[in-house]
Amino acid sequence: MPPRKDNEYIDADSDSDVDILDESGNRGRKSKGKAIDRRRKDKGKGKSSEQPYAWEASYARSWDTVQEDEAGSLTTAVADLLARNRRRRLLAPANAIRRTIIRHLIIILDLSLSMMDRDMRPTRFDLSLEYAREFIVEWFDQNPLGQIGLVGMRAGLGERLSEMSGNSQDVLKAISERHKLEPAGEPSLQNAVEMARGSMGHLPTHSSREILIIFGSLTTVDPGNIHDTLEACIRDRIRVSVVALAAEMKVCRDFCDKTGGQFGVAMNEGHFKDLLFELIPPPAQRVLSRAAGAGATNPAADLMVMGFPVRLPDTSLPALCVCHSELKSEGFLCPRCSAKVCDVPTDCDICGLMIVSSPHLARSYHHLFPVKPYQAIISLEEGSAFAKSCHACARSFPDAPTSTFTATAEGMSPLGRYRCPDCHHDFCTECDVFVHDVVHCCPGCGK
Ligand SMILES: [Zn+2]
Ligand SMILES: [Zn+2]
Ligand SMILES: [Zn+2]
Ligand SMILES: [Zn+2]
Repeated sequence: MPPRKDNEYIDADSDSDVDILDESGNRGRKSKGKAIDRRRKDKGKGKSSEQPYAWEASYARSWDTVQEDEAGSLTTAVADLLARNRRRRLLAPANAIRRTIIRHLIIILDLSLSMMDRDMRPTRFDLSLEYAREFIVEWFDQNPLGQIGLVGMRAGLGERLSEMSGNSQDVLKAISERHKLEPAGEPSLQNAVEMARGSMGHLPTHSSREILIIFGSLTTVDPGNIHDTLEACIRDRIRVSVVALAAEMKVCRDFCDKTGGQFGVAMNEGHFKDLLFELIPPPAQRVLSRAAGAGATNPAADLMVMGFPVRLPDTSLPALCVCHSELKSEGFLCPRCSAKVCDVPTDCDICGLMIVSSPHLARSYHHLFPVKPYQAIISLEEGSAFAKSCHACARSFPDAPTSTFTATAEGMSPLGRYRCPDCHHDFCTECDVFVHDVVHCCPGCGK
């Protein structure tokens, strides 16, 4: 196979001038040469499934993930990305799963010195802060009834960075000032997990308790036996997920496996983000036989008390809020005790009633009733009546299969048509993605 165009860039940029002259392909380099050769072999197979580890690359090579086709066009690359999303969606179970819509999550950030490693650009620390911010925004968007708290692991201690809060701005503010989070010392997994566990002890059984650890170290400095902490997490039904930036640690894997969380090692920047964002949809509620907690295995629906607050107009008389003790006129009144709170959703500070607004409740629903995946139409022969244009955006469909879509085996329609299994309307690729990722409701049947 003749060498591809981009290999020349790699050779020219990554190595000393001696190597450039040697065109035999068998270079005397050690580690770097091996990494590049392996990558070349992967490319030779024509598969982009195996991406190199970040430490194998000597510098950021963003063009590796996007490949041009023979005609120099990026259409195939874009189509490939869309196809990957489609396939992921098809993998999701179609029948209704019981999911927790009231979630409580503590994010534990590693703030130890190992986060200053530069194997992820610019550093692991900066990258994880950036992704944590995006994660928090997206998480609150998809889980409006959830609450997030932040804990840092630094200098052998667990540090509370932010209290559990349902307001994304409060949480984001806690990690907005980078200089306050400057990494130092060793991390302590046990201290941080115990701190997170302590702040979730009071939560009711119908809400989920989750811990997400972004872990960049390969060591942990603990004051006691970390397996006791693990047992305590299992007992309290806390789901621990870990995104490791360095390598797999047995204790982290144990935490995830035994508590029902997810474990992943980030191979590169993009994979890191994928691993994080996989944790945004609410987890399916599992039946825990191991934990003998009250109501844990009850399959019947539990009723819970919620209150819809009264919104005060901006012109109302100023009064003290119960959450910050600030004098202001706008706010919400608790329907049970008439206490004034600044923001919903929240738990009333006085009577403990959960205060939500109905849009928040409605937005949490789409996880419970997902839109069915559309079927890709492979050919026009089978039926007779085919719509001329997309049912949603009215863009007309091509009559013949377009040449750029060759990858029909991957769940992509060569005609760009996707059909709702319920209302049998056809939609274009863009609308298919938009309906499933943003609208969460089929425009054809309203389901
Ligand atoms: Zn307040
Ligand atoms: Zn109240
Ligand atoms: Zn459309
Ligand atoms: Zn439909």
